[in-house]
Amino acid sequence: MILGCHVNFTNKQLLDSVNYALSYGANAFMFYTGAPQNTIRKPIDKEYTKQAYELMQTNNISLDNVICHAPYIINLANDTIEDKWNFSINFLKQEIQRCAELGVKYIVLHPGSAVGLEINVALDNIVQALDLIINDNDQVMILLETMAGKGTECGRSLEEIKYILDHVKSKNIGVCLDTCHLNDAGYDISDFDTFLSNFDELIGIEKIHCVHLNDSKNDLGTHKDRHENIGYGTIGFDNLVKVLYHEKLKDVPKILETPFIEKDYPPYKFEIVSLKNKKFNSNLINEVKDFYK
Ligand code: FE
Ligand code: FE
Ligand code: ZN
Repeated sequence: MILGCHVNFTNKQLLDSVNYALSYGANAFMFYTGAPQNTIRKPIDKEYTKQAYELMQTNNISLDNVICHAPYIINLANDTIEDKWNFSINFLKQEIQRCAELGVKYIVLHPGSAVGLEINVALDNIVQALDLIINDNDQVMILLETMAGKGTECGRSLEEIKYILDHVKSKNIGVCLDTCHLNDAGYDISDFDTFLSNFDELIGIEKIHCVHLNDSKNDLGTHKDRHENIGYGTIGFDNLVKVLYHEKLKDVPKILETPFIEKDYPPYKFEIVSLKNKKFNSNLINEVKDFYK
């Protein structure tokens, strides 16, 4: 089972991320290279990276299970302000370069928001931008995240994701499934076998390189995108366990992006234990608070 969570990438960069992951009992993790809402980035420190690798090796964390998430400020879908669109392209290129320096193989990307453009135009903008960004021999692969369809988000349906994958020239691009987003987009993952076989027929299961494992605060098809702690939302514990242990996704890292308890305390350590034991923790909030307070 490859299970981890979102972690910080702070002063000691990847070394801090690994230490956070270990403190949660994770054998996979995902991070932003800096604040997702701004562009302030420090150069990658080789020494910290080397120490991070050593720590990963002693704890059996493979670089295959380390994921970067591109910042929200990148929007490849809307090119009405040319400077903004070019900025997004260049910033994503820089993020990919940072991933390459860290040896990280996957970067998750929100496809973008149409904001006023027709969906077809927006999707073509994304394709055009990705063609400028991706090279076939990049060691870093962009994973398009399935979106909830909040506002004008692109990637709210598998067909939209497929359109992008089919039209981008390079094949060096994959998919990240987000269970909360799928639910909110209207995909019933309580029958995950059927969902996966539909996905396989349309896109190909081998394109999936990451799963964001989240419960949802909202009902199927509400296009909200509000994550909930594992077992506390509308998807439910048993359905998320089925995704986590699905035979066809066994080599794919699962990453928790569940909300902090009272905004301050990370739930991951306790959610990971509960998922490993396949036993819902009805006392999550108190256990997390007692541990961190
Ligand atoms: Fe995301
Ligand atoms: Fe996500
Ligand atoms: Zn989300």
